[in-house]
Order: sequence, then C-alpha cells, then structure tokens
Amino acid sequence: MHNYSILEETKRILRENNVWLKKRLGQSFIVDPEYISKQIQAGELDKNDAVLEIGAGVGNLTVKISPLVKKIYAIELDHNLAEILRKRVAAHNNVEVLECDALKCEYPQFNKLIANIPYNIASPLTFKILSYKFELGILMYQFEFAKRLIAKAGDENYSRLSVNTSLKADVQIIDFVHRTAFYPKPRVDSALVKIVPKDIKLNSTVEEISQVVNEIFPYKNKKIHSAIKHYMNKLNVNKETLKQILSDIPYSEVRVRDMNINMLDELTTYILNKIGGI
Ligand code: SAH
Repeated sequence: MHNYSILEETKRILRENNVWLKKRLGQSFIVDPEYISKQIQAGELDKNDAVLEIGAGVGNLTVKISPLVKKIYAIELDHNLAEILRKRVAAHNNVEVLECDALKCEYPQFNKLIANIPYNIASPLTFKILSYKFELGILMYQFEFAKRLIAKAGDENYSRLSVNTSLKADVQIIDFVHRTAFYPKPRVDSALVKIVPKDIKLNSTVEEISQVVNEIFPYKNKKIHSAIKHYMNKLNVNKETLKQILSDIPYSEVRVRDMNINMLDELTTYILNKIGGI
C-alpha cells in the first residue's frame, strides 16, 4: 500500500539520521499520499510556478511538488532537517532549501504557497504570509484554527483573526484531514485551507480597519456604542467629543461579533472623520 511506503520511508529517514523530533517546532510529517495529492491538485500547479513551502520537514511534500513546477523554495528552521532535506532533494535541481525562521526571514518571490505549516506559529505566520502578493495558497492548519480563520460575521468562531484575514484574502476549508495522515500522529485534526489574496474596495485602509478591529474585538459580545466608548476612553477623547461621536455612530446597537467587513469599514471611516485620524 502507498500509505505504508511514505510512512515507512519517513521512519527510515528519521532512524538513519538519528533524528529526535522537536515537539516545540510542531514536527509531524504528512505521510498519507491521498492528502498529499489533494493538496497538490488544489494548488493547480504548472511549469511556470514558483512555489514557497514553509516548514518543509523531511520533504514529503517537496519531492512531490518539485517535478511539477519551475522552482520551489523550501523553508526549514531545524538545521538537522534542513540537512536531510538537502540530501533528499540533491537530484532535484529546482529545489532551494532556505534554512531560516519563517517568521523572520524575507521570502523570495513566489506565486503559489503550498505548506503544512508549524501549527505553533500559525497566527503570526498567516499575517506575515498575507503581507506578500501571491496567486494562491493551499495550507494545512490545525482544524480549530482553520474554523476561526474562515469564520464569517455572526459565526461562533468569528474573531480578529477572521476579520484581518478576510480584509486580505478569500479563505475556505477544502478538506478535513484526520490526524492519522501524519507521523508522529498529532493530538489534533487538521484542515486544508485555500487562500486567494484579493484587493477589496474600501473607504478606509486595511490598516485603519485592523486598528479599530483590534480595539473593539476584545468586546466581541458588546454593542458598538459600548465597545467604542472603551476605545475612545483609551484614546483620551474628551466627554463632549465622545458624546458627539456616539450620537450618530453607525451600527450603534449591533454587537461587535455581528459586524462584517463593510460595516466595519463604514464604522472606521466615521470614527476617522470624527477624530481626524487614529
Ligand atoms: N511540511 C512537512 C513538515 C510539517 S511539520 C510535512 O508536512 O511533512 C512543521 C515543520 O516546520 C517542521 O519541520 C519544523 O521543524 C518546521 N518549523 C517549525 N517552526 C519553524 C519556523 N519558525 N520556520 C521554519 N520552519 C519551522
């Protein structure tokens, strides 16, 4: 069975190189060929693609992507794994292993992102990724995290993460992935997520909206007038101005958790006009 062979090869590589896996780096490798194929197919790869892979591990995805594309940059932080990866891809001349911390290093130019990322840095990594321009990303996330990532206004999992993500990209879960698809088997299930960056038309900038979102989402279950009151107090806005701001604030009675992107945009623009910048 195929499944058996990728699993066995992974075990062999780890054994022959005396690798002790580091839990804190989220080292758990994809060994189920069905999901490797699904992830690669969803990436719609072709010979013109420059692919970025973050957290390449022992290269189980890397070696499958390499024959399909022009170039693949494989980022791996762990020195031992980066060495193993270099040896494994020695015959693939379009693979470049970049040994660095994916949160710190600059990425080379890429148009597709295919990665089973380290789950412990999912949040900052997603923000970093979304600051780059690219066509399409197919990423493996922890299932619970993926649900927060794709949540829409009013959903139970709607959060700062969902808003900040949807300001920059369309995201959807394309598959549920059971934990047995990995070795060693993690304690959580996963999801394959499709990310398509976009430029949306807004009145305020993404940064301005993010700023307001970061200030009001800690009061997710409160109504807008109340959340904004907290925010304005923090900015030391005087009583008179606050009263004036609240007098005709849009969505005053709507709860923060029910505010979608366009509503948040309108609210941000209103506040900016009133206080002349954040
Ligand atoms: N994509 C591989 C490995 C997934 S495990 C596979 O699916 O088989 C996650 C990998 O990310 C590990 O190899 C780990 O060493 C690496 N990693 C963890 N933190 C990292 C960071 N900050 N920058 C780059 N790689 C990191």
